[in-house]
Amino acid sequence: MIDLVDVSKRYGRDGTAWAVQHASLAVAEGELVALLGESGSGKTTLLKMVNRLIDPDAGCIRVAGRDVRTEDPVALRRTIGYVIQQAGLLPHHSVADNVAMVPRLLGWSRGEIDRRVDELLELVGLAPAAYRARFPDQLSGGQRQRVGVARALAARPRVLLLDEPFGALDPITRVGLQGELARIHRELRLTTILVTHDMVEALTLADRVVVMCAGEVRQIATPHALLTAPADDYVARLVDVVRAQSGQLQALAARAADAPADAADPPARAADAPADVTGAPAERGDVR
Ligand code: ADP
Ligand code: MG
Repeated sequence: MIDLVDVSKRYGRDGTAWAVQHASLAVAEGELVALLGESGSGKTTLLKMVNRLIDPDAGCIRVAGRDVRTEDPVALRRTIGYVIQQAGLLPHHSVADNVAMVPRLLGWSRGEIDRRVDELLELVGLAPAAYRARFPDQLSGGQRQRVGVARALAARPRVLLLDEPFGALDPITRVGLQGELARIHRELRLTTILVTHDMVEALTLADRVVVMCAGEVRQIATPHALLTAPADDYVARLVDVVRAQSGQLQALAARAADAPADAADPPARAADAPADVTGAPAERGDVR
């Protein structure tokens, strides 16, 4: 559905540093692929080349079999949903007007637009009666992101691009919205590229993960393959970081379980933890 073939991009005429170098990736219809990498690794640049917010210096990009260079960029962008970190809602427009933006540009009838707005607000978990007329500054960060997702889906795109959509949210809201994205993806089967620097987000949501470093694609693999067979030292280090963090949490839980019953923090929950926490300290030692 989305094919990137040997795509490169550098900024500035005298720029020697390539933002993206010889990147190739094929995203199948209905697949959710995560682009994972540190800040500055080229994730946003690669994503924006798919909907022609940026044009590559070399290589070819096809969406649904068509070379994006042959498409009018504005028309192309109306067929591709796009969600960014701060949702990018228009501040002086209501939630309903923000969601209706693309359908209105496409000339849908008033009735069609109203029905679609309600359907989408329901889909993203916002009761239309309560949220339609609100303005972006009357919403929480998580609610704004929900509206951003509704807006991206308004004109029934087949492709959805998300650039660190949950990056600015608190952890509980973030996990809630990650779950919503997984549900929406299961329901709609949109071909999806999710940019994130959060390894756990990438591993838990994606069918396949693309690890980027300094503009290069280092590995493309399922979450399982990434964890069990990292392609190089860089990917191995990334995997070790999450393993070490998870090991530290499990060790903490195990320690809490060993604490006396009258300790300040009662061990009831830790004792409920899976039996394998007892193996955590040794495992932690292995990955360091
Ligand atoms: P990421 O999204 O992974 O943080 P980006 O794709 O935004 O990375 O950036 C990749 C590289 O390109 C970085 O080194 C960044 O500084 C550079 N870059 C991004 N946008 C521009 C720009 N408009 N002009 C010059 N350099 C840029
Ligand atoms: Mg970015």
